[in-house]
Amino acid sequence: MRHYVGGGFDASGVPFPLVDPVTGRTVGEVPAASRELVDRAVGAAREALRGPWAGWSPAERSRALHRIADGIEGRFEEFVAAECADTGKPRALASTVDIPRAVANFRAYADLLAGRGERSWHTETPDGRGALNYTVRKPLGVVAVVSPWNLPLLLLTWKVAPALAMGNTVVAKPSELTPSTACLLAEVIAGAELPAGVFQLVHGHGADAAGQWLTEHPGVDAVAFTGESRTGSAIMRAAADRLAPVSFELGGKNAGLVFADADLERAVEGTLRSAFTHSGQVCLCTERVYVERPVFEEFAGALAAGAKDLAGYGPMISAAHRDKVLGHLARAAADGEVLAGGGVPSFGDARDGGFWVEPTVLAGLPEDHPAVREEIFGPVVHLAPFDTEEEALALANAGPYGLAATVWTGDLSRAHRVAPALDVGIAWVNTWNLRDLRTPFGGVKASGIGREGGDHSLDFFSEPMNVCVKL
Ligand code: NAD
Repeated sequence: MRHYVGGGFDASGVPFPLVDPVTGRTVGEVPAASRELVDRAVGAAREALRGPWAGWSPAERSRALHRIADGIEGRFEEFVAAECADTGKPRALASTVDIPRAVANFRAYADLLAGRGERSWHTETPDGRGALNYTVRKPLGVVAVVSPWNLPLLLLTWKVAPALAMGNTVVAKPSELTPSTACLLAEVIAGAELPAGVFQLVHGHGADAAGQWLTEHPGVDAVAFTGESRTGSAIMRAAADRLAPVSFELGGKNAGLVFADADLERAVEGTLRSAFTHSGQVCLCTERVYVERPVFEEFAGALAAGAKDLAGYGPMISAAHRDKVLGHLARAAADGEVLAGGGVPSFGDARDGGFWVEPTVLAGLPEDHPAVREEIFGPVVHLAPFDTEEEALALANAGPYGLAATVWTGDLSRAHRVAPALDVGIAWVNTWNLRDLRTPFGGVKASGIGREGGDHSLDFFSEPMNVCVKL
């Protein structure tokens, strides 16, 4: 585990333990970046802005992104193994989602960049000769990328790729819980013929550590962050003094709406996936499902049966996170019904030392209950009935978050009426987590600021500048 600063690897810093969530055992050590190292990383990134990187054409940067994608593909199995080791997620998930999406992130922005044009306007002038206005896009400068533990490489590269595409330099800080694939990424970038200082990696914790020192650093021009809403507030305060732009992808408490006219089998199957993928540790996961009353019992019975049958799921990321999830479950069991799960699975092997929670289906809780209102970020979903479309929308739109929602219906008109009326950044109809990387991605209310994806990312990571030429 090493930092990567100014084109060189560095293992300095007080080490902190890396814990395997599957067994709870300490499996390694990670050096925590000192404030001096963070300074050095930002300094190297500033320096690189004035170096040869500034002269690289979009086509050259696009080719560099493809080289990075090639590099990840060339070490695909290592990346998969590292992601599984850090997160405990099933291999099937890391090998079909996390690592391929990291590759796709670099390729998608490389291609978007290569195909991007500039706008121009012809302007009338009193002398009749006119003027030509055209817009050029310039990098923001040094971008800090701070990412979470749930989809470590996918979410890191989702920001690093467009930031590099637009000619910025980057200092990245992955979650202290999942540093391994970021280390591999630094090795790949080191071999991708980018000038020294274009990409930096520093490890460490958030508050009063590398994360905070980086995001409050006066040499950082913009902050791209994915993580908890509370952390977003802290980072925004840190960035406010120097008016640095921020792009935030934050928490959610995503609703699913199941109408009686839906294909119920498909809705159950889709909800099992949307609630329990990566044991609920995906920001887009559904944590509350509202079901039209005539099909409530049937849906609840089928979902509970499906949850009990789930196999091959992974653990919570840490003991602290497991305890938070179990705290919610204890309160929910006291105040409502547990239709499936609710406890800790027993394996009779080393996994009993890990941070496991059973896939859990709850019902009967009031809407203001913490388990229905707060983001749990675990394998927990609450079911409640509704009677009318208006009521369903009001329930889904209540609460502080607005990231994603899923609508299950067989009525085309209802689908188009309900989906756009949801207060979220992303609504799915009869599916979940189907992503096209060109589309806007982000949340409203406490779920985020700004949009990423496609041109939205390329726009955030650059500053438009107008040039006016009198003809
Ligand atoms: P977190 O906010 O605890 O940590 C995220 C990152 O921020 C880590 O690298 C951490 O070290 C750093 N950090 C923490 N405090 C900081 C501070 N004061 N200053 C600077 N950096 C700081 O989030 P997490 O627990 O790693 O991730 C889970 C959260 O992320 C959930 O809320 C989830 O919904 C959210 N998430 C959102 C999206 C999205 O796209 N909207 C995607 C994935 C995860």
